Amino acid sequence: MSENIQRVALITGASSGIGKICALELAKEGLQVVVNYYPVPPCEAEANEVVKEIENLGGKALAIGCDVTDSKAVQEMVDRVVKDCGRIDVLVNNAGITRDGLLIRMSDEDWEKVVNTNFNSVFYVTKPVAKVMMKQRSGNIVNMASITGVYGNAGQANYASTKAGVIGFTKTIAKELASRGIIANAIAPGFIKTPMTEKLDTEKIEANIPLGRLGTPEDIADVVKFLSRPNLYITGQVIGVDGGLVI
Ligand code: NAP
Repeated sequence: MSENIQRVALITGASSGIGKICALELAKEGLQVVVNYYPVPPCEAEANEVVKEIENLGGKALAIGCDVTDSKAVQEMVDRVVKDCGRIDVLVNNAGITRDGLLIRMSDEDWEKVVNTNFNSVFYVTKPVAKVMMKQRSGNIVNMASITGVYGNAGQANYASTKAGVIGFTKTIAKELASRGIIANAIAPGFIKTPMTEKLDTEKIEANIPLGRLGTPEDIADVVKFLSRPNLYITGQVIGVDGGLVI
C-alpha cells in the first residue's frame, strides 16, 4: 500500500462509549473514520458530534446510521463506505447491548435482542467487509468481546454467550483470512466506565480489581490502535483489558 493512501476505519456503535473514543483515537493516528451509529435521533446527533470533533482535530470522518442487526442495511453501509472512502483497512465490531437477568427469568426477547446485536451483527458486518479487505490483500479486524465471554457471569447468560461466540468467530476468521493478509483479534474488556456500566456499584467492583480502578474507553482504544497496525504479527488472539480482574 502506498504511503500516500489514507487508511480507513469503520467502527460500529461509535456514537458513544468505547466506540466513540476508538473513533477519536484512530482519527488522531491519521485514519479516516466511519462512525456507525444506531439510526435514531439521539445517536445521530452524538455521531455528528464525533465527526465534528474529528474534523476539529484536522481529521476526516463520516457518520453512517445503520442498525447492525439488519444485514441488508449493513451491506448498503459497506457499499457506501467503499464508494465514499475507496477502501476499508480497519473494522472495529464494537456495537453491543446488555439485557441482564437470571436464566430462569430471561425472556426470549431479551435473549434474541442481545444475540442479534452482539453476535449476529458481527457476522453481518464482517462478511462484506472481509470481501473488501480480501481484494486489498490487507486489513485488521478488531472484535469487542468481554471477559464474561471467557469466564461467564451470573445474570448474563445472553451477553456472555454472545461474547464467547465472538471469540470463536474471531479465531476462525483469523485462520480463514490470514493467507489474504487480514488479521483478526478480539479484546476482552473488564469493567469500563461507559453508559453501559453507569448503573453498577463501582465501589464494590473496584475492590476486586487489582489495579484498583475501572477501565476507561481510552484504555480500550489504546489496544484497538495497537491491533489496527498494518503488518502486525498477531492474529486470533483475545487480549484482556481488565486491570487484572481475572488473573
Ligand atoms: P455503549 O456506550 O452503550 O456503546 C454501545 C454502542 O453500540 C452504542 O452507541 C449503541 O447505540 C450502539 N448500538 C447498539 N445497538 C446497535 C445497533 N443495532 N446498531 C448500531 N449500533 C448499535 O457501551 P460500551 O460500554 O461503549 O460498549 C461497547 C462494546 O464494548 C460493546 O460491545 C460491549 O459489549 C463491550 N464491552 C463493554 C464493557 C464495559 O464495561 N463497558 C465491558 C466488556 C465489553 P445506543 O446508544 O443507541 O444503544
